Amino acid sequence: MNRVPKNSVDWHYDDKASWTCPNHQFQSPINIVHSDTKPMNDDGELVLRYRKKIDTMVSTGYCLQGYLKGVASLNSRKFTFQQFHFHSHGEHTIDGKQFPLELHLVHQSDNGKIAVIAVMFEVGEENDTIDDLLNHVNQTNFDNKINLLHLVPKNLDYYHYLGSLTTPPLTENVEWYVLMTPMTLSERQLSHLRLFHKDNYREVQDLNGRQVLNKTFK
Ligand SMILES: [Zn+2]
Repeated sequence: MNRVPKNSVDWHYDDKASWTCPNHQFQSPINIVHSDTKPMNDDGELVLRYRKKIDTMVSTGYCLQGYLKGVASLNSRKFTFQQFHFHSHGEHTIDGKQFPLELHLVHQSDNGKIAVIAVMFEVGEENDTIDDLLNHVNQTNFDNKINLLHLVPKNLDYYHYLGSLTTPPLTENVEWYVLMTPMTLSERQLSHLRLFHKDNYREVQDLNGRQVLNKTFK
């Protein structure tokens, strides 16, 4: 096991207003209004094949982030898993409802397309995998058998739209898959997680005419 050196960025959550850029129109996160969404016609299947071992867990200074090897087939296209991280409270809202925690699973295709799967968390039953991650913050090459899919609901129904990264450089043309089914963690786990980073979220952005799709699997 090795310690991970801290890296730093040149932006801060207490300075969010300065992030805005006039050329950016299709930003994330958004508020999803279920009754305004339309069914997705594509097959839309999400197949996640993540290695059951975390390579590195790091507190970046603005979020808790983890790395592991994995691939995914998202709507029949191949992506490579990049990293996962948490926002608290959550960033996307659903019918105006804000969640205490949101997990982002970031993927990239060979041609550079970014796709993020977002998982909402509510306070409820404990999730052991959250403790497994918290016990290894700023560690790399540690012995573990952690299945990140224990943080992902079995039901992969989702909302889909095109948006952006939610931190600078706010790059657009990011595919978002916001899962409808929330997971849970306990109040203790949420408090523990928020010791590292709290209020690392961006406010919801204007839709600017975008159509949000919904995909439900029978
Ligand atoms: Zn994020």
